[in-house]
Amino acid sequence: MTFDDLGLSPNLLAAIKDAGYTSPTPIQAGAIPVALTGRDVLGIAQTGTGKTASFTLPLIERLSRGRARARMPRSLILCPTRELADQVAQNVRTYAKNHKLTMALLIGGVAFAPQKEILDKGADILIATPGRLLDHFERGGLMLMGIEIMIIDEADRMLDMGFIPDIERIFSLVPPRRQTLFFSATMPNEIVRIVNTFLKDPERVEVSRPAQTADTIKQYLVRVDNGSPAGKRAALRAAIRRDGVKNGIVFCNRKRDVDIVARSLQRHGFSAAPIHGDLAQVQRMKTLEDFKSGEVRILVASDVAARGLDIPAVSHVFNFDIPRNADDYVHRIGRTGRAGLTGESVTLVTSDDKKSLANVVKLIGGEPETLDLGKAAPSAEATGEAAPAEARTPAPETIGDEASKPSRSRRGGRSRSKGDAGQAKEKAPAPANDTARAKEQKPKERQKDGEAAGFGDHVPEFLLRSAFG
Ligand code: AMP
Repeated sequence: MTFDDLGLSPNLLAAIKDAGYTSPTPIQAGAIPVALTGRDVLGIAQTGTGKTASFTLPLIERLSRGRARARMPRSLILCPTRELADQVAQNVRTYAKNHKLTMALLIGGVAFAPQKEILDKGADILIATPGRLLDHFERGGLMLMGIEIMIIDEADRMLDMGFIPDIERIFSLVPPRRQTLFFSATMPNEIVRIVNTFLKDPERVEVSRPAQTADTIKQYLVRVDNGSPAGKRAALRAAIRRDGVKNGIVFCNRKRDVDIVARSLQRHGFSAAPIHGDLAQVQRMKTLEDFKSGEVRILVASDVAARGLDIPAVSHVFNFDIPRNADDYVHRIGRTGRAGLTGESVTLVTSDDKKSLANVVKLIGGEPETLDLGKAAPSAEATGEAAPAEARTPAPETIGDEASKPSRSRRGGRSRSKGDAGQAKEKAPAPANDTARAKEQKPKERQKDGEAAGFGDHVPEFLLRSAFG
């Protein structure tokens, strides 16, 4: 099947072609033709399946006729996190570049007044997180009775984050005669209830999880016999130094550890940066942009912060901690091996992780291969070297006229003026300097981590021996 078979207009097909996509993913093939007819869609698909285009493409097509009125947007896309909202906005910019549509992005953590100005001018597409949307609504800057199409992205994550009352409220504010496109990776009871209450005879389009179909993800376990944090950090470094690690995301179960692991990697000369919910929005955006551009090679993240991050071509996912919830394992490793590219995941496990590991093994139907890092010769400071071009996402075209430009330039301006001071200390070293930095800084870090001196770049066998026999 090709995109030509889905009923999209030439303008959209041209934008899709420019984005480099040739054939629709299964969720796109299933959802787009139905959504174009105006019917409600229940899409069960997670990040990495191409779900974002499966709702943005029909949305653009259906809005291509008609115009927005001041303070009365014609469509609403609700996202659980600011990052996800930002990525959906980038998708819209990419696909709507041949259309004259306007867009407003209403997310928390950035200035309120400029968002209001954009709303006042009229937006065809409103992309929002629930809290900020309701703030604007309550201040009278927004009316929702013009909404023709309402989209919910990552509904199950909204549930996790406690947004369901907000979602119900928002559903009560939009007109009953509207189209609803509703996406969730999983269908817990509460989500089924929302679907049954607010969708009209939806067509259900379900695709399997990428991780369950992904022959493209090679999964490994590294058994860290010495389960101390320092032992795990040493194992992580050895895992990152393996050949073929271009860039990656390191997942930690606790926010605290995200910072500790990121700082430890930086001290060892890796180009690494943390991303979690306690960081200022501008800083998170900047980190994400640096990661996408290849300036930062290793992103250290918590599950919530990483949810929905659209990062093409991540070569590796590292689980510093095996997640307590097996579903999170599937979400995490789904960050690699996307859209036909190959990837690897490396999960550190200690003897305390037997239960979590058993849950993962049960869910994925087998145990990943054990990797013996003690024997793997570390490549020459691999991770410090040249940033991969394929980690770069194409810069999106802005759509419409004033809708998106002011907010982007403001954001850029803020992150430069404020972010630099705040980030200077934490800023990851430029890739070219990493090797030198790594050499300079290792002795200090060893001491700090409480590791025995003299390991060099090799993790000693005793740290990595199987804890499970
Ligand atoms: P999503 O599931 O929407 O987060 O998309 C996952 C990744 O797949 C993103 O990097 C998209 O740019 C990419 N993508 C979306 N649609 C396609 C397609 N038809 N072919 C190849 N890649 C795609």
